[in-house]
Amino acid sequence: MRVRFFDLSVPDRGDRVRRAEFVVGGGRFEAFGAPGALAGGSGFDAEVSLKGLLVLPGAIDGHVHFDDPGFTWRENFATGTRAAAAGGVTTVVDMPCTSLPPVTTRAALRNKLGVVAPKAMVDFMFWGGISGNAFEDPQWERHAADLVADGVAAFKLYMLSGMETFRDLAPDQMRAALKVLARLGIPAGVHAEDRELVVARTAEARAAGGNTPLDYAASRPAEAEIRAVAALIGMSCETGARVHVVHLSSGVALDRIRAAADEGVAVSAETCPQYLAFTRSDLATLGALLKTAPVVKEPEDRDRLWAGLADGSLQHVATDHAAGEWPGEKTTGSIWTDYGGVPGVELLVPFLFSEGVGRRRITLERMTELVSGAPARFFGVAGRKGRLAAGLDADFAALDPDEAWTVDAVALHNLNRYTTFQGWTSTGRVRETWVRGRKVFARTGSETWFGEPGAGQFVRREAAEAA
Ligand SMILES: [Zn+2]
Repeated sequence: MRVRFFDLSVPDRGDRVRRAEFVVGGGRFEAFGAPGALAGGSGFDAEVSLKGLLVLPGAIDGHVHFDDPGFTWRENFATGTRAAAAGGVTTVVDMPCTSLPPVTTRAALRNKLGVVAPKAMVDFMFWGGISGNAFEDPQWERHAADLVADGVAAFKLYMLSGMETFRDLAPDQMRAALKVLARLGIPAGVHAEDRELVVARTAEARAAGGNTPLDYAASRPAEAEIRAVAALIGMSCETGARVHVVHLSSGVALDRIRAAADEGVAVSAETCPQYLAFTRSDLATLGALLKTAPVVKEPEDRDRLWAGLADGSLQHVATDHAAGEWPGEKTTGSIWTDYGGVPGVELLVPFLFSEGVGRRRITLERMTELVSGAPARFFGVAGRKGRLAAGLDADFAALDPDEAWTVDAVALHNLNRYTTFQGWTSTGRVRETWVRGRKVFARTGSETWFGEPGAGQFVRREAAEAA
């Protein structure tokens, strides 16, 4: 099947776009050219007009919790990947901690693959994990090696976890785990908050009877992230592990990472839309709806994260999509027991396009790097995904860059439809999403169309991270 796509534009240098066309064969991009340049070629099975839309490389959301199998009243792979498709995300990388059994063994990985593959509408990768629980198994090193052989994208570790089924690692355990991951040649993604500090501040706040969103924020100060990041930088030097800080929220922690990376330490970080959009005063207003860990910080932090996206010191943007049951789990009567997490996969591309490119905080070229190129390299799939280039999987989103629309939670496609972005107006809307040359999503006016579940494929980490 060879298809010529025409009447479209693609990103060029900076904020520029250029008119183009391309041919897809066997699920991959075959060639790109100027308008009309490829029309003379023979043997097209079809020609598809993209009606002047802007084609972006499919986004890779490197941090989602689709809860399947195990916590499927919160999210599942059918609804999670539907929301991804509707948002121009063509690959998701699912976390190991929010499915049961957690992905800390080969058997758990294969079980999860069997459950989720028939539901997936977009391509997917799995994070493996080393939890405090897994660490108690004397065979934990062998399990980690098995997971690498089965193609996990990276490993998730926690310095502070709220989950009984996936506990955090004590500093000595963290060091031992990083040593093993360094030997296996695979990166570690770490939840970086200092356990002791958060446990102490939480106990203080609760003993004093505090029960407001700002009491929760006070229990997880920026200092907790800064201390944890400093410790991780030291451990990366000591063990040689490639360390990636997930969902970074504070400007000072980013400064530490930038300085260490400049000195050659193998450390990087991602941030998420919630830390780029909201601050503590929004938490006071939105309450549990915006409860996350880490918690949103100050306007200065938010601005420094944007600057980090622009100057390259933040490597990529992911959503940490984690929906609780709505409204039940978000309205338990106490900020301490309300579910921590927000859905986000469907809004990643519109958010960065509208708030980042539209407001000139980042260029269009930089945006495609942040959600496609950089995550593809980090997860070892740059030979297959992440760019509009001949030979790579034909994963792309077609966006109307001028369409203004207002976010309404009930119109999103994940299972539990609440969003901190309710009522937010975005300029730029995903109209079509294609995975390996197959259309999986289309929007015409207010009508939406989806492809068949099961079209998404498991993607294995292929190689060490390319420079
Ligand atoms: Zn997460």
